[in-house]
Amino acid sequence: MRRIGVLTSGGDAPGMNAAIRAVVRKGIYQGLEIWGVHRGFAGVISGDFIPMNLSSVADVIHRGGTILHTARSERFKTPEGQAEALANIRRAGIEGMVVIGGDGSFRGAKVLSDAGIPTVGIPGTIDNDIYGTELTIGFDTAVNTVVDAMNKIRDTATSHERTFVMEVMGRDSGFIAMAAGLAGGAESILIPEFPWTIEEVCERLSRSQERGKRHSLIIVAEGAGQGFQIGEEIQRKTGFDTRVTVLGHIQRGGTPTATDRTIASLMGAKAVDLLVAGEARKVVGISCGDVIVHDIDYVLSHKKEINRRLYDLAATLAI
Ligand code: ATP
Repeated sequence: MRRIGVLTSGGDAPGMNAAIRAVVRKGIYQGLEIWGVHRGFAGVISGDFIPMNLSSVADVIHRGGTILHTARSERFKTPEGQAEALANIRRAGIEGMVVIGGDGSFRGAKVLSDAGIPTVGIPGTIDNDIYGTELTIGFDTAVNTVVDAMNKIRDTATSHERTFVMEVMGRDSGFIAMAAGLAGGAESILIPEFPWTIEEVCERLSRSQERGKRHSLIIVAEGAGQGFQIGEEIQRKTGFDTRVTVLGHIQRGGTPTATDRTIASLMGAKAVDLLVAGEARKVVGISCGDVIVHDIDYVLSHKKEINRRLYDLAATLAI
């Protein structure tokens, strides 16, 4: 293997730059040429490749977003788009690829591998919804962003004796809401994985008010319900003064935490090692602070579950 490509795809996540940096620097250390692809699979189709050197990734380890830009490409899901992409990869002399993104991006990585381009996936998504890894790049930063917002909301909630509903990202999974809810001391955590009712939420609120609590914080993953609707129902059913905050895209941005930079560096370097060793169709992950490797099919055919113990613990501690 002499030349490898690297791309970021799907939603951006803080720490992706640290992963790109690790791929470029470890690759050059191993004597490889590294080419960056702009805008994910869309850039593979349009042949938007650039050679990268040591200084291409200088001063990026602390930056959120992705210097390679990212995109969602419907065309890459079609046989025509894939044929164009593969022709471009071959024409550029790229012999292996590193794909940084979520599970959709891994399906794209599988397409490349199936077509004979050895490809390794690195989990990069704030959602943490990838099987086979304890952490995905960006999750820790996003959770810390939410906890920071909860701390600020808590100040105003206490001062005005209000109930706050905070809606966070997670259309299909509640990992961010779960982790931030526990770390931020939320009264209730509403996530798509576990059923909940508005009556139960209101009952918990009333109980905590009865024992003298004057403010409450409820965290809801967007896939479990709409913050504004939930806030209205709480106000109507309990009469508690309720406000709603929808955090939105600030959860995607910001300087990556040390944890995200570390796991990105570990996984980026490992992805290069795997390609050099002739491995393909692999996904790297993190377990107990170290890098692990799985087959891409294994990762794509399993669903990561929320840790029920953490969910129950959060409920117990919020009595
Ligand atoms: P996030 O978790 O942040 O949403 P993701 O990687 O899951 O990230 P997707 O939009 O699902 O985001 O996928 C990113 C891109 O991967 C798609 O736009 C498409 O180009 C490619 N992709 C997704 N699914 C497939 C598939 N089945 N076959 C080929 N390519 C795919």
